[in-house]
Amino acid sequence: MNIEKLPKVLEALAKYRLKQAKEAVFKNLIGDWNKATFLPLGLREELNQKCPLEIKAEALVSKKKDSVKARITLEDGLLIETVLMRHKDGRNTVCVSSQVGCPLGCTFCATGKMGFRRNLTPMEIVEQVIYFARYLKKGGKKVTNVTFMGMGEPFLNYDNVMKAARIINTKEKLNIGARNISVSTAGIIEGIEKFAKEGTQINLAISLHAPSNELRSKLMPINRRYHLERVLAAVDDYIKKTKRQAMFEYLLIKDVNDTEACAKDLARIMKHPLYYVNLILYNPTIGNDFKPSTAERVKKFKEILKNNKVVFSQRFRFGEDIQAACGQFAGKKSQE
Ligand code: SAH
Ligand code: SF4
Repeated sequence: MNIEKLPKVLEALAKYRLKQAKEAVFKNLIGDWNKATFLPLGLREELNQKCPLEIKAEALVSKKKDSVKARITLEDGLLIETVLMRHKDGRNTVCVSSQVGCPLGCTFCATGKMGFRRNLTPMEIVEQVIYFARYLKKGGKKVTNVTFMGMGEPFLNYDNVMKAARIINTKEKLNIGARNISVSTAGIIEGIEKFAKEGTQINLAISLHAPSNELRSKLMPINRRYHLERVLAAVDDYIKKTKRQAMFEYLLIKDVNDTEACAKDLARIMKHPLYYVNLILYNPTIGNDFKPSTAERVKKFKEILKNNKVVFSQRFRFGEDIQAACGQFAGKKSQE
């Protein structure tokens, strides 16, 4: 899909036709210009050539049918992955990629393993939401939430991510409420600082995964550049400016960061009233030996957080059977 040339192709027509054409793309979610019957036939053909709406993708549905992974082929042939999670409460969350690969190389992450290829354009990000909006429309349903938790580090592609978020949020475009959009960062401080000044209701999530610099640097090499204290200071400043909560994602990896000592250290640094912790059981991926924590460890870990009055929740797991869970986005088949 590429609608960059849309204004140019419709240049000779009255202005409202362009508005109508955009509505057809973002509201009626057409996948073929022939459906835009308000346009002359010849023009529709020209549009199909110059502004193709087709999204080249392969979809994989999980056994429980609550999660769908789409592997999208971009114009230059590179692959990205995007996932739809269908929650029991009716929310339909699309988890989008912001880069092809990721340069940060976290040791536990499948995307990190593949290295970095390039940033996605705003429309390449938006297209992922449109793909699932079209998919859900067939059953009379809508995308309700978008998270930037697919492949890549959103704050290393800051401008395009914010442009995409605006298109996703705009009433005349995809009209998904800012409070239903979340951006997750591994802790790029300049990004957090910029984000704090946006004046947006979009949620901020930080991948924490360890309560000390020593352990965090082992898991997330970026921590050597942006130490934990500096990340937390940037988040505190964000909270001061925006009065909004900040979510900290904490993976539970067996025998790595799930000990009682880790839980206590985590509780100590998560004291802020507007912090909350989202525990995520590690999803095994190819290329490393990490395993999810045992049920017993998870229970103990949560007990310690609770006793220390840390606000937390545990994320429901989706789509492990189709390698569609957090951190499993590798842009290729798992067997390859
Ligand atoms: N680069 C950003 C956003 C994409 S990753 C970031 O790191 O925040 C989205 C989330 O999935 C992050 O919290 C990431 O740490 C987590 N994740 C990575 N690998 C995972 C795995 N194997 N199991 C569960 N979560 C994983
Ligand atoms: Fe990149 Fe996030 Fe994966 Fe780390 S966890 S390698 S930052 S996508």
